[in-house]
Amino acid sequence: MNIHEYQAKQLFRNYGIAVPDGKIADTDAAAAAIAADLGGDRWVVKAQIHAGGRGKAGGVKVVDSIDEVRRAADSIIGTTLVTHQTGKGGRLVQRVLVEKASNITKEFYLGMVIDRGSQRITVIASASGGMDIEEVAKVSPDKVISEVVDPAVGLLDFQSRKIAAAIGMSGKQIFAAAKMMKALYRCFRDKDASMVEINPLAEIDGEGLMAVDAKVSFDDNALFRLSDIAELRDFDEEDPKEVVASGHGLNYIALDGNVGCIVNGAGLAMGTMDAIAFHGGSPANFLDVGGGASPEKIGNAFRIVLGDVNVKVILVNIFAGINRCDWIAEGLVKAMQEQKIETPIVVRLAGTNLEAGQKILDESKLDFIMAETLDDAAAKVVDIAGKKSL
Ligand code: GDP
Ligand code: MN
Repeated sequence: MNIHEYQAKQLFRNYGIAVPDGKIADTDAAAAAIAADLGGDRWVVKAQIHAGGRGKAGGVKVVDSIDEVRRAADSIIGTTLVTHQTGKGGRLVQRVLVEKASNITKEFYLGMVIDRGSQRITVIASASGGMDIEEVAKVSPDKVISEVVDPAVGLLDFQSRKIAAAIGMSGKQIFAAAKMMKALYRCFRDKDASMVEINPLAEIDGEGLMAVDAKVSFDDNALFRLSDIAELRDFDEEDPKEVVASGHGLNYIALDGNVGCIVNGAGLAMGTMDAIAFHGGSPANFLDVGGGASPEKIGNAFRIVLGDVNVKVILVNIFAGINRCDWIAEGLVKAMQEQKIETPIVVRLAGTNLEAGQKILDESKLDFIMAETLDDAAAKVVDIAGKKSL
């Protein structure tokens, strides 16, 4: 789960990480009032969406008067911002964060991620922070350094100082950065984060280091034990089909292809997507219906998959262990009849009660296209939906 910058900054404040003063507004008048309240003579108005790259897309504006704050807010709120992270469709901006502008003298990059290779939290830092960090990482990866943290002892002071020195800090700044890294590590670990990013980590004239931008993602599987984090979820930032699916206990991720997939088990769902891709097709989604797939669950899965207008054919791939093929078949027949589905459905069943399941599908006299194996099923759906144009 991702959160907004203003929420991440509040979280940082709780951990003693310095962030600019600011507040959230959903109208231009509220933005102007916040700026007047904050005082000073320079402010920054920032679009709040779950995507980076806002600066380059016109979603971050530094201004010098209250009237300009109002105009900046007016021009950002209600627009659809397209950044290199939003995809072509962009994201509707509903709120802006209004902050006192900081007098930035240098921009560093500081992040933490879980490195799958070492299976450990890893600190990533660079002296070349700011809006071109992706380019820096691509063109001169040597300018991005990383340090792996041993979970048994946490981030040690010498490691933080080493990182700070490696990105060109010296003197007191090294200790300030080390303190910030320690706080960030505690935040990452306490809140089951999967990624935190401060870009820029800014050196502010006369004020030391500050997190001028803040991005945090959390492990969804840990949200049950972190109610304070779970309530930060913004459903407006998520694919509505994914929100509905999670409400029905279905694990659904929307993709941009045309083959709808209804599968049990995350591994099999991945394998199914691979098989479709192998035959030259393109999956419209990842969908794991889970272990006990009741007819209601199957029905909901069809509703969600068919809610995607790009879907030309559906591949149902079930390997029944805990599930039973006859239950699945009943669910399929019920969904087909109740929802009057006209989209072609290719079905591949295997495992517990296979014969009983096949019998139910045969006797229904409905137009299921049966497949023997996953490979056969994938070939059939790609035949119907067409190959992905390259
Ligand atoms: P992003 O483009 O979505 O990552 O948004 P950021 O919050 O990182 O803002 C983009 C850029 O705007 C930063 O890299 C800064 O250069 C600039 N910026 C943001 N806030 C301030 C500020 O308070 N003062 C100044 N001078 N620049 C700022
Ligand atoms: Mn940024």
